[in-house]
Amino acid sequence: MELTKLSPVEIQKRLQSILPRVQKPGRYTGGELNQIVKDWEEIPTRIALVFPDIYDLGMSNLGLAILYDLINQRHDALAERVFSPWLDMETTMREAGLPLYSLETKHSLCDFDIIGFSLPYETLYTNTLNILDLGNVPTLSIDRAPDDPLVIAGGHATYNPEPMYQFIDAFVIGEGEDVIHEIIETYQEWKGRSQSRNGLLLALAKIWGVYVPSLYEAKFGEGGTFTHLVKLHNEAPASVTKRIVAKLPTPTTRFIVPYIDTVHNRIPIEIMRGCTRGCRFCHAGIVTRPVRERTVDEITSAIESALRYTGFDEIGLLSLSSSDYTHIVELVHEVSERYKTNHLSISLPSLRIESVSVDLMNAIQRPRRGGFTLAPEAATEKMRQIINKPVSTAQLLDTAREIYSRGWTSIKLYFMVGHPLEDLEDVQAIADLCKAVRAEGRKVIGKKTRVHAGVSTFVPKPHTPFQWVACDTVEQINIKLNLLKRELHTPGIKLTWNSPEETMLEAWLSRGDRRLSDVVFHAWKRGAKFDAWQDQLNFQAWMDAFNLVGLEPAFFTHRHRPLDEVFPWDHINTTVRKKFLVEDYQWSTRAETRVDCRDQCFACGILPTFADLRRQNPGKVWQCPDVKSKRPRSKNEFISLESIIDAS
Ligand code: SF4
Repeated sequence: MELTKLSPVEIQKRLQSILPRVQKPGRYTGGELNQIVKDWEEIPTRIALVFPDIYDLGMSNLGLAILYDLINQRHDALAERVFSPWLDMETTMREAGLPLYSLETKHSLCDFDIIGFSLPYETLYTNTLNILDLGNVPTLSIDRAPDDPLVIAGGHATYNPEPMYQFIDAFVIGEGEDVIHEIIETYQEWKGRSQSRNGLLLALAKIWGVYVPSLYEAKFGEGGTFTHLVKLHNEAPASVTKRIVAKLPTPTTRFIVPYIDTVHNRIPIEIMRGCTRGCRFCHAGIVTRPVRERTVDEITSAIESALRYTGFDEIGLLSLSSSDYTHIVELVHEVSERYKTNHLSISLPSLRIESVSVDLMNAIQRPRRGGFTLAPEAATEKMRQIINKPVSTAQLLDTAREIYSRGWTSIKLYFMVGHPLEDLEDVQAIADLCKAVRAEGRKVIGKKTRVHAGVSTFVPKPHTPFQWVACDTVEQINIKLNLLKRELHTPGIKLTWNSPEETMLEAWLSRGDRRLSDVVFHAWKRGAKFDAWQDQLNFQAWMDAFNLVGLEPAFFTHRHRPLDEVFPWDHINTTVRKKFLVEDYQWSTRAETRVDCRDQCFACGILPTFADLRRQNPGKVWQCPDVKSKRPRSKNEFISLESIIDAS
């Protein structure tokens, strides 16, 4: 049935007959504790915040919760939530002619002024199109009329926005806490003046951190390599620099409490943003620089407040590398002591082997839940040096022994295969290391010892020092995975892995140029959706879409790129200089490592760009060196490291 425009009352009425027929109806009702419902008629700017996967996943997305809180604090704007309906619900909705709606007031997606997608990873792209279609919003930006919603997107995947350029009106590059207000104000000003839609897009493009793809045309050279972007409007910026907040704002604490189980039933508090370790495969480690920490007082007050609002009994102390937070032992100790009678569980989802101290293990050991997770990523000295994660096997085994001896029975180890310099001995070493960890555990706790090896496949992500290298082929990946499956088919060890097809899709979408957007569109038309779900990935739809568009998938993934190749994402400025990335890549080929950049600044390039922000926030707010010089500089002047840092 055609999805018609329905009023919230009509949507609510139809839902009553639909919901008893679908799995987990609690995903689709709204009405949870702490949801915010504002008077729709009284609020001028209405924003739908969309996580393009199911409620169970989207409700654990911290970025969405932060924006929901910030927007709803404004008197002139409201934010409501929209998630992908699961397959059974989508079929039922389409049969009933029910458009996708917001959980709070049951307005159709097309009734909103602004639709903001969260795109933390690329395998959400077809769901994004599906949501627009289900919400009665034209999927192509070019087809949207002045009355249609403005469609924006942010999140880590948008650091290469090109494969989604036809569907998103404006991308937010970087952190959203400040820029969302500027977008709302620009939208309101535009609406007040009734200008053309292009006028709005041009105004948005002038905001720091906003990229409007329709203001540019992509050019390609012989052989199909991207050569450059041509500006279609004089006022469009030549490149778009990521947005950051100079200081992490007060944490959100009034989290919505779902009626149903979600992937993380806990209070998420971000303790630190960014990472200084410099793992060369890590996209997040580059794009989230600089490291900014919250104080222990800020974090404990946030926990206090969140516990009061939500009643959760688990706290997640989140960051890319929680054990690197300067005051981690003090923080965990303080929280454990304060809530020792409440049975509060503390989870530190991201720990570095070298910074998990005995003190930290002692502090977090009560009460224990689930396993302990570590990410060695590689098992040989050679590969650890190449990826810049130089943790010794002895150090890992010591840490594992300490963990088992404190009562944990299971350790999850994350590994990565697929780097072009890796050979089968490096993969065999992963199996040997898992067995060695289990043997350490058996010495301490006997047969109860469990090891879970989670193996992902390397994708050379844009903006990282590995952006020039090729991916393994499906055949190469299968040889490596088969070795691990054979070797780790043993009691006490569980192995999980990503399918090679899933890896290929992630690689095409993260490394693609504008032409990929036709592939995304046709794959979706052929039924691709929920690509992040192993059992839903419709690989044939993607291969058919590549065929139809006339592109060779291997061009995007299996080609080693020369150092002077212009990337389709080069106009997105993470502020880490390309020269630094080239140098780091060359170091990797010589197996040379860098120390944590809190110990030695390598002048990656972010400080010249953010010198003013750093100067306004001196000291320990950032983990980069202080910036002293105030001498005005011309735009193109080279700024040496010595001139900007306080060597003391
Ligand atoms: S400026 Fe220096 S300390 Fe800061 S992130 Fe870059 S390399 Fe690390």
